Amino acid sequence: MNPSETAALGERLEAVRGRLAGAARIAGRKPEDVRLIAVSKLHPVEAILAAYGFGQRVFGENYVQEALAKQEALPDLDVEWHCIGHVQTNKAKDVTGRFALIHTVDNLKFAETLARRLPEDIPVQRVLLQVNIGNEPQKAGVDEHDLPALAEAVLALPRLEVRGLMCLPPFFDDGEAARPYFARLRELRDDLEARLGIKLPELSMGMSGDCVQAVEEGATLVRVGTDIFGPRPVKS
Ligand SMILES: *Cc1c(COP(=O)(O)O)cnc(C)c1O
Repeated sequence: MNPSETAALGERLEAVRGRLAGAARIAGRKPEDVRLIAVSKLHPVEAILAAYGFGQRVFGENYVQEALAKQEALPDLDVEWHCIGHVQTNKAKDVTGRFALIHTVDNLKFAETLARRLPEDIPVQRVLLQVNIGNEPQKAGVDEHDLPALAEAVLALPRLEVRGLMCLPPFFDDGEAARPYFARLRELRDDLEARLGIKLPELSMGMSGDCVQAVEEGATLVRVGTDIFGPRPVKS
């Protein structure tokens, strides 16, 4: 990246931070209660380093091999890596213990494998349960009707800590259209907390096009890629 590309990235990052802080204030929330995950999938390590230079410390990746390669390339960087992509159960062993948070637990078999294959020296793996909030057949996520049973089963596993819920609503050009889905995820979280007598502090929701609405509806983790890094190269 040349200096002007780096400067432009810094400006875009600052603009996203401003939008999130504004949305938090509108909702009567504290800006620091919303964490921005910079989604760096398909962007090179140089882009991660540039964002790091502007103070970004949390990065989200979707593809297992790419994510692990970037971690290996940046071993001493003081950052938190989040796994936000769908992971096949046979790759659970590759991700467990390697991410501060795995957002995409949507079935028990995957959760069991994460727990069983967690390296001995890592006490717990934090996870979110991904809900298929728009009931879209092509999307990952547990059906909302199956969520309570999945939550109970995952909570019973050793060494996994369920921190909350994640969703990826249907795509709309207008972020306002995603708002009811975000409100629904929060409602599902509140119901689960009451039903199971637990705390689920995290709601991972909102992307470039709808992060403002997500924050207004209670997001604690927003996953923004394009608005920080620009358009993504096509996956080969
Ligand atoms: C790619 C991706 C994002 C970021 O999307 P943008 O529209 O580029 O901000 C967020 N969440 C998930 C799960 C993604 O796969």
